[in-house]
Amino acid sequence: MVVEIISVGTELLMGSILNTNAQHIAKKLAHMGLDSYYQTVVGDNPERLRAALDVAFSRADCVVTTGGLGPTKDDLTKEMLISYFGCTPTEDPEALRRLEERAARRGTPLSTSMRKQATVPSGAIVLQNDNGTAPGVIIERDGCACIMLPGPPKEMIPMFDEACNVFLRAKSNKVFVSMNLKLYTMAEKGLPVGESPVADRLGSLVDGENPTVATYAKEDGVLVRVTAAAPAPAEARSLLAPVVAAAKDA
Ligand code: ATP
Repeated sequence: MVVEIISVGTELLMGSILNTNAQHIAKKLAHMGLDSYYQTVVGDNPERLRAALDVAFSRADCVVTTGGLGPTKDDLTKEMLISYFGCTPTEDPEALRRLEERAARRGTPLSTSMRKQATVPSGAIVLQNDNGTAPGVIIERDGCACIMLPGPPKEMIPMFDEACNVFLRAKSNKVFVSMNLKLYTMAEKGLPVGESPVADRLGSLVDGENPTVATYAKEDGVLVRVTAAAPAPAEARSLLAPVVAAAKDA
């Protein structure tokens, strides 16, 4: 399955915050063996979000969005996706109960804008939010899925790690296992190592498809990452072993 990430938030576009949500999700997708080829950042704007969804669904089976599920006017992800998938909005009783309980604890009535967060697409899987107010949602339609998660990382991360992992893992038939080798200096000259001499020494190893071998220039040296895909971790590790040994000898 191919998964694409759309991070919603004008703050991200303006550079006010770092997109750590996309980083977290991307890492987890790679561990789960799910292919992910593109990420998009879009502001809190309904037309541009719709356009980003069109593009994402033209090349992926599943789109994960973060942000825009809260109570304020600019939180439009859920409304947009309800209309995008042609779903009927409905109130989730458990999400509403949690919001009412929270309001009662604070001694305030539940405002219309807060209540809006309990609205979900009918037929969706609702991911209750144990660390905030807006629930996440999974919609499945015609072989496509959309997972909508809240923006705050302290809410998004546990929701993704607990509920979405289970949903997505069931869709994956492989795992990726990587091993990193780090070269700091050219042993023979004691000089900082450069990426192209390392790539040259690895020779045809970098052309392999499984495992793949990739070089990355870092401030303090060069990282060589060897990654294998297989149905199970043990199989991936046995594919890795000979290539890692060859890379070390190169
Ligand atoms: P809220 O209920 O807080 O409004 P929300 O789901 O509507 O949640 P946003 O309003 O889009 O989410 O973002 C709330 C906050 O979450 C942002 O101010 C920012 O601190 C954090 N956040 C949002 N998106 C990201 C992201 N992609 N990476 C890291 N932090 C993020």
